[in-house]
Amino acid sequence: MLVMKFGGTSLGDRERIDTVVTLVRGRLDRRPVVVCSAHAGVTDLLLEGAHRAAAGKPDLTAIREREHALLASLKLSPKLVAGDLERLDQMFRGLALLGELTPRSLDQVAAFGERMSVKAIAAVLRRRRIPATAVDADEAGLLTDGRYGRARPLPEAYRNLARSLKKVKGVPVVTGFIGCDAEGHVTTLGRSGSDFTATIIGRALGVEEVEIWTDVSGVLTADPRIVPGARPVEHLTYAEASELAYYGAKVIHPSTIQPAVEKGIPVRILNTMDPAAEGTVIAPARRGRRARVTSIASKRGIHLVNIVSGRMLGQSGFMARVFDVFKHHDVIVDLIATSEVSVTVSVDDATGLAAVADELKAFSKVSVKGDAALIAVIGERMKRASGLAGRVFTAIGNVNVPVLAISYGATKTNLQIVVPEAQEREAVRALHAELFGEE
Ligand code: ADP
Ligand code: ASP
Ligand code: MG
Repeated sequence: MLVMKFGGTSLGDRERIDTVVTLVRGRLDRRPVVVCSAHAGVTDLLLEGAHRAAAGKPDLTAIREREHALLASLKLSPKLVAGDLERLDQMFRGLALLGELTPRSLDQVAAFGERMSVKAIAAVLRRRRIPATAVDADEAGLLTDGRYGRARPLPEAYRNLARSLKKVKGVPVVTGFIGCDAEGHVTTLGRSGSDFTATIIGRALGVEEVEIWTDVSGVLTADPRIVPGARPVEHLTYAEASELAYYGAKVIHPSTIQPAVEKGIPVRILNTMDPAAEGTVIAPARRGRRARVTSIASKRGIHLVNIVSGRMLGQSGFMARVFDVFKHHDVIVDLIATSEVSVTVSVDDATGLAAVADELKAFSKVSVKGDAALIAVIGERMKRASGLAGRVFTAIGNVNVPVLAISYGATKTNLQIVVPEAQEREAVRALHAELFGEE
């Protein structure tokens, strides 16, 4: 068996959807399960629509027009999504009456993009004589915790999915991105969450491979929007891919690799626009023992928190106390750098940070600085690439970008530096030129 996940751009217009049909047909002997995102742009429209509705302006026009235009181009009836649009309309009116938008209602709205896209894709497949059934993952048992907007699967999800997907007639075409919590409320796995759905289903069914079809020919050596000459990476280890995704490479959702790791399932990143391209294989280990840097990722919107407590820093228990405060407010720390007198940590989601700073102030001096970007240079066994740190600092120094913090951890899969956000692009380009050469 095989999971084939198609992202928003792969489902964005008729031409791409034609390619999707050809790809699925070519793999029918491997019993594919298809996982779909919403058509490109639809999730954004839904989220904007929900906010506008809660501000008193419920308006479904943009979403309805986008869905209807796409169905028309596929020669499918608008009736296919009439029920979904009707429910969405009721929800928007409800939000306007209430005048508020909870994370729970936002997830409920956001889920409609995938609900509508699977109906269209299953219908197109059937019309081309490929038996297929649209499946809503929440109804198929993708049970999650109740963290709206960033839910994670519960252990029962795998059993439930295996049981219900086995009963589906023809190719199951399953909604990415969505699940439901124990109370039956809809949840989402976070932006780009369909990648995560693909490996969750892959693990549930014990498939031989998960294919993630997108609009680039694999994971590239850097974000192509920053480095136009970035090149595909042929092979990544699970650890490298997880770090890349975590540190901002948008090409896969940060949690995508976890379910694959548990069963050793290879994940392949492929290009719908160029299906013959090799793409990237993400698998447990790479052949050959050569140390090398595989890619560069970066995240903006980083805050640096500097914590100074001359009196206590050297004493045992101080660090534990500091991190207890972060834990208490559910604030996730990325980079940690310590010196004799201070601890600096970076945080990419500032929600809760003000409360953290207040609590830390009870026993230390705290300063918080925003407008930073975190750049991660990734590669397993990089520790053997001697001189790497020197090359990194020289390259960044040559373009006059100040380094605000650094961390080079014990696993050495990852060298992280924090720079001013305004100079992120310059720094990434300089690093790419140094580590991968100009293209
Ligand atoms: P999909 O709609 O298929 O899920 P996404 O837009 O979520 O696609 O992800 C693909 C995009 O990720 C690419 O078009 C590219 O702009 C961006 N990207 C960022 N970093 C990388 C990287 N290291 N390798 C490949 N793509 C990257
Ligand atoms: N449609 C969702 C999003 O836009 C999930 C996904 O595309 O993977 O984030
Ligand atoms: Mg994506």
